[in-house]
Amino acid sequence: MIAIAIDGPAGAGKSTIARAVAKELGYIYVDTGALYRTVGLKFSREGVDTSLKCDIEKILKETNVDIAFVGDEQHVFLNGEDVSDKIRTPEASMMASAVSAVPVVRAFLLDLQRKMARENNVIMDGRDIGTVILPNAQVKIFLTASPEERARRRFVELTEKGTVTTFEEVLSDMKVRDYNDSHREIAPLKPAEDSKVVDTTGLTLEESKAAILDVVKNKVGA
Ligand code: C5P
Repeated sequence: MIAIAIDGPAGAGKSTIARAVAKELGYIYVDTGALYRTVGLKFSREGVDTSLKCDIEKILKETNVDIAFVGDEQHVFLNGEDVSDKIRTPEASMMASAVSAVPVVRAFLLDLQRKMARENNVIMDGRDIGTVILPNAQVKIFLTASPEERARRRFVELTEKGTVTTFEEVLSDMKVRDYNDSHREIAPLKPAEDSKVVDTTGLTLEESKAAILDVVKNKVGA
């Protein structure tokens, strides 16, 4: 099996680019952020906020997260319920960031991610895929872009979906998440030593996709 790990901060274009590259190569695209978002949603539904004052292990015992593919589209399930759309809100993003800093939550989601890579050729995106989840991935890419560019992309995406927000709010949320993700003790966001850093600031989707395919071809000759 071949695994391509794509890590990087929110809004770097990981999911859009990974989806396009997966299609081109006939791989499965696994969006691991959706898993943390699903756990975050469960905690929200239990009335817990980002301070996570609760019995985390007890809630995790009542949480089942699963992935299934409808065509080539990943859906995520919380205790059997398809929550793929419900996890795409700014609140869910902040809850995902909060729960993802908890070691037992990361351990809880580890097997599911590794299982996906054991059974399929994958392109998997997240924050610690190349460093922790799939340290033996044949290709590791750290995808990044300036905070302003990332916030602009996320703002357009949210506005298109009808979410009422402002650019400033999106930028400030993004900076908080960047800080949390790169400063947490466990699995902080950082490029794997053997990763190739690709900066998509000012690149179109096609250009970004070509840059990634170039790295993949160099590594595995795909
Ligand atoms: O990628 P996405 O924005 O959907 O991720 C939501 C949050 O989940 C991130 O801000 C990060 O805190 C967390 N996450 C993580 N490790 C991953 C994927 C996401 O900690 N592999």
